Amino acid sequence: MTEISASAIAINAPTKRWHLGILSAFVLVCLWGLVFLSLVEKRQQVIGDIYYFSTADTALTVEQAALVDEKTWQSIGSDNSLGMSDDAYWFRFSVPDVIRQDSKEKLLEIDYPMLDHLEIYLVNQSENSFDIIARHQLGDLQVFSQRPIDHAVFLVPLTDVERISHIYARIETAGTVRFPPSIWLANDYIAYTTQHASIMTLFFGFMVAMAICNLFFFITTRSMTFLVYTGYVVTLGLSLAALHGFAFQYLWPNNLYLQGRAIAILASLTLCFAVVFSNQTLDVVRYSKTIEKFLKFLAGMFFVFSLVSWVAPYAIMIKLLMLMLIIAVLSILACGIWLSARGSEVARYYTLAWSFLLLSAFSATLDNLNIVELPVSSHYILIFGASVETLLLGLILAMRYSQQRDSLTAAQAIALEQEQAATKAKDELIKVQQESQDELEYKVQERTLELDLALRELSEANRELEQLSAMDPLTGIPNRRHFDKRLLAESRRSRREQTSLAIAMLDIDHFKQVNDQYGHISGDQCLQQVAKILTDALKRPTDEVCRFGGEEFAFILPNTDVLGATQLLENIRLTVEASEIETDEHTFKVTLSAGVTATTMRREGEELQLLEFADSLLYEAKKNGRNCVINRAFSDKQQDY
Ligand code: GH3
Ligand code: MG
Ligand code: MG
Repeated sequence: MTEISASAIAINAPTKRWHLGILSAFVLVCLWGLVFLSLVEKRQQVIGDIYYFSTADTALTVEQAALVDEKTWQSIGSDNSLGMSDDAYWFRFSVPDVIRQDSKEKLLEIDYPMLDHLEIYLVNQSENSFDIIARHQLGDLQVFSQRPIDHAVFLVPLTDVERISHIYARIETAGTVRFPPSIWLANDYIAYTTQHASIMTLFFGFMVAMAICNLFFFITTRSMTFLVYTGYVVTLGLSLAALHGFAFQYLWPNNLYLQGRAIAILASLTLCFAVVFSNQTLDVVRYSKTIEKFLKFLAGMFFVFSLVSWVAPYAIMIKLLMLMLIIAVLSILACGIWLSARGSEVARYYTLAWSFLLLSAFSATLDNLNIVELPVSSHYILIFGASVETLLLGLILAMRYSQQRDSLTAAQAIALEQEQAATKAKDELIKVQQESQDELEYKVQERTLELDLALRELSEANRELEQLSAMDPLTGIPNRRHFDKRLLAESRRSRREQTSLAIAMLDIDHFKQVNDQYGHISGDQCLQQVAKILTDALKRPTDEVCRFGGEEFAFILPNTDVLGATQLLENIRLTVEASEIETDEHTFKVTLSAGVTATTMRREGEELQLLEFADSLLYEAKKNGRNCVINRAFSDKQQDY
């Protein structure tokens, strides 16, 4: 889902912007084309056939050349370019009478500024005389200021034109030999050259602007392609400036060494940059590693070539360069066409850009060879082609950059989306973990609570059980079991704290008879009522009465001496004696007997003797006639022993 939307961003959106760019480029090209078409035609004056011959004898003088057999002189015809050779070339043409009869100021122009040596001889020649009126030494092997007229192309003033019958020229050059002479009215030439200069200024201004712009793009974006393109624009501009003579005129007017090699160096560098630029912009590596390697090799070759050109002879280098230029241009074009076929949109515009340069170079060549007559100068065709190509390549560069930026943005968007999804998933996981932990904690708490409750219930039940086991079910007061424990505990306390512990044994008199007389139920109820009287009689919280067994009760009275205990028991005896026992069916009275004793404990286990002693006192009370309390201190008993 995200991938589809990303690729949609990468393809659809820029296409619209590109179309706008292409449209504006098209408008610019049309305007630029109109500028060329609006140029006035060259108004140079017509001259007749030009004859030439070449000779290995470079020492030949003009007089000797003039004497050379007429058959040796050949007509140039439409053959404007004579190839490359080490020979010296001699040219000759006669000045038409129309020109000679007009006394206005005139100029001879040789519109090919790349010649090394050019000598012009203005001659008055008849059957038996040969007068040299003027001799001019030109060519870019002499410093610029030595030219007769400071101009990018070779110009010679034609003074005394009515006397000049023939013009001879001698050329010796390492590059292509070309001799395109024109005779101008000086005024016409000024008009033409002004217009030409404006066009050239426009063109070079455009190239400089492109170079600066792309240099800034490089500085701000750090994208190497902009730098390569800047290199390409600079070297292409310099190459064309050298080709048109401007570079020599303005940049290195005194550097003859450089002027002799500039074209080879600059053209090699231009091609080097062009190949690197093509490789990067077309993203060739994506389609074929082999072709990418080949283009790299080619670029390397051109670079080496530009270095070698500094030292190697120009004549050889320029021939090699021509060969490599054809290979490079065809390779780049083929590459563009191939990638266009593979669906690369950039490659289509790229091919168009290169086709423009090739087409312009081709038509300029056709024009030079006079195969076709174009309405504008071949210089301008080349300049036009180069500027359109530069413009289109700049546009392509912008396209590539925006495409890369868009795909980067799309990739960033996807990455962000994925990161957000990951964060969301993580958050959800943490939430689930938190929830389950909370649930676990809650459950643990719940279980702990339940366990606590159960434990409490258990301990309560235990306590109840203990209480029950210590309780006499009939009377509701502690039983014998409890009494034994309490007796042990209190006897230890007495020993520890050295306090007196009193014990009393109590028995209802003739209880058997109660049972016999009123029945067991009434006997039980009697026991309950007596127990109540006994309990109510106790005032201290530490005093306790237990059912010892049957109708016998035992008292534990801590911190109490014999007298105190006797008083309590006497009160109880009197209370019971005075009380009416009311059962469901009967009302009667009972009495009771008690034995009371007390002591401060001294030994472990002494309490059993104390109890036994109290019991013996009770027995004594029975013997004494019942309904009485017998008391005696325990120490008295020991004295008895
Ligand atoms: P004395 O004055 O010598 O104490 O005579 P007594 O009849 O009270 O003594 P004895 O030990 O001979 O009789 C005790 C009687 O108490 C015997 C028994 O039936 C009765 N008894 C013991 N426990 C209970 C009881 O829980 N309920 C009832 N109803 N009677 C009991
Ligand atoms: Mg008894
Ligand atoms: Mg009894």
